[in-house]
Amino acid sequence: MSFADLTGRTAVVTGAASGMGAATARLLAAQGARVALLARRTERLTELVDKITAEGGQALAVTTDVTDQASVDAAAERVQGAYGAVDLVVAAAGVMLPNPIADGRLDEWTRMIDTNLTGVLRVIRAFTPDLLAAADAGRAADLVTISSIGAHVTFPDFAVYSATKAALTHLAAGLRPELGPRDVRVTNIEPGLTDTELPAHVDNPGLSDLIDSMFTAIPALTSEDVADLVAYTVSRPRHVNLRQVVVLPTRQA
Ligand code: NDP
Repeated sequence: MSFADLTGRTAVVTGAASGMGAATARLLAAQGARVALLARRTERLTELVDKITAEGGQALAVTTDVTDQASVDAAAERVQGAYGAVDLVVAAAGVMLPNPIADGRLDEWTRMIDTNLTGVLRVIRAFTPDLLAAADAGRAADLVTISSIGAHVTFPDFAVYSATKAALTHLAAGLRPELGPRDVRVTNIEPGLTDTELPAHVDNPGLSDLIDSMFTAIPALTSEDVADLVAYTVSRPRHVNLRQVVVLPTRQA
């Protein structure tokens, strides 16, 4: 792990109940940031807060559903009430629900769009004024989005998931010319195969077997690998913006 001194930074990490979000929250806290952990599973968040606190860090569990505007508004109020303005936002919450398009799973399509795209927008809406204020005051300010290599690579049954990730990648690119000149860095990370809970929600037995076989064939990234990249990115000098990072397991073609 690269060491970054994030003392004095105040972070919000969505999707902090597991996987990349949890690992990122833990690492940012270990490197000195105060970190608000957002996701739906309160117990998971509380456990992670306890772990971070035991490691000497500062963290706050904020139960949040990013598909619910009132929930995100309440989360922003809670974070700002406890920690003041935020200067680092990592939007990692996401769901992957692949199925054949002909199955017409409007429930899954809606959930993916609402979480992976509109959910990120809700978080951006809640915290962009804080990021702009931090930048305006001469401090580092970061928006980090976790998209996917799926934004570029197509697989059967993944069309809607890929579409949400392509939209997220494009959203981040579109924010750069707006926020960059105001000194807010926007970094979009596109990971490849990473060992997390993400496939556990797949409601497609044939595909679950295929995903399992990919994990057998390819030594996947860990959540900590992605967290390390986030910590590296946000700890560069303020004028340096890694705007797009594709990170793959070495063996993933
Ligand atoms: P996980 O399933 O472990 O993490 C997803 C997180 O999102 C969980 O903490 C979950 O917590 C949270 N979440 C889901 N829905 C909501 C919601 N409505 N409101 C708030 N939080 C929510 O998987 P990963 O760590 O892999 O996923 C992180 C990101 O990485 C996702 O955006 C995913 O698409 C992306 N990604 C993953 C890859 C992989 O191979 N694993 C590859 C490329 C990208 P809770 O259920 O408690 O709400």
